Amino acid sequence: MTVELLSITPDAEEIIEHAGRVCYLSDGHDPEIITRWIKSGHESVIEHAVASFHISGISRACSHQLVRHRLASYSQQSQRYVSEDQFEYVIPDSIKHSNYCKAIYEDAMSLIQTAYKALVEVGIKKEDARFVLPNACTTEIVMTANFREWRTILKLRLDKHAQWEIRSMCGEIARILIDKAPHVFSDLKELIFN
Ligand SMILES: Cc1cc2nc3c(=O)[nH]c(=O)nc-3n(C[C@H](O)[C@H](O)[C@H](O)COP(=O)(O)OP(=O)(O)OC[C@H]3O[C@@H](n4cnc5c(N)ncnc54)[C@H](O)[C@@H]3O)c2cc1C
Repeated sequence: MTVELLSITPDAEEIIEHAGRVCYLSDGHDPEIITRWIKSGHESVIEHAVASFHISGISRACSHQLVRHRLASYSQQSQRYVSEDQFEYVIPDSIKHSNYCKAIYEDAMSLIQTAYKALVEVGIKKEDARFVLPNACTTEIVMTANFREWRTILKLRLDKHAQWEIRSMCGEIARILIDKAPHVFSDLKELIFN
């Protein structure tokens, strides 16, 4: 899995602080105030900053969980237009750690690959052949959200109830956002598990 920051609002914390101070007609400069606004529930101010990430090598199972977040924007690799005849796949650690389970898993992937290719070879369109593809298939996606939505996503998906793959991906995103906008995201540090 790779997580690359494509773009982030320049001087994000300054814009957020500026916007928040307009609400109260207050002067001065102290980014700590952003953390206090977030704690008090005045979160709309952090919507003025956005970040875009290019995420690759996650499973379609993971991307399906990700795209449930409705206030973000997405562009995902298409299985209608891009051939999957050499598809790569994610192997969960629980399966990877057992030779027996890994062999079953790899056999299944190989069978699916053969079936997909055979269907395409006899003229079935990629958009229909893809119906045999597994959740394990890797994908890539560009995702843009404002900071308020990133906080919502990260809180839900870094939580121990979320699945390991999306937790791990969100850990990467959280590290980057904490570095770029510490007064907005630092409280999420304790949720990062790896
Ligand atoms: C541990 C875990 C297990 C899950 N299991 C399942 C499952 O078994 N089945 C399943 O279907 N889903 C499951 N989900 C997905 C979950 O139900 C949400 O769809 C997903 O987390 C997106 O969250 P959201 O709707 O809060 O946020 P977003 O879509 O990111 O929206 C952000 C926020 O905007 C507000 N908002 C957005 N749209 C609306 C709206 N239409 N009305 C009112 N407020 C809105 C809400 O405050 C929301 O929190 C699971 C999620 C987690 C984290």
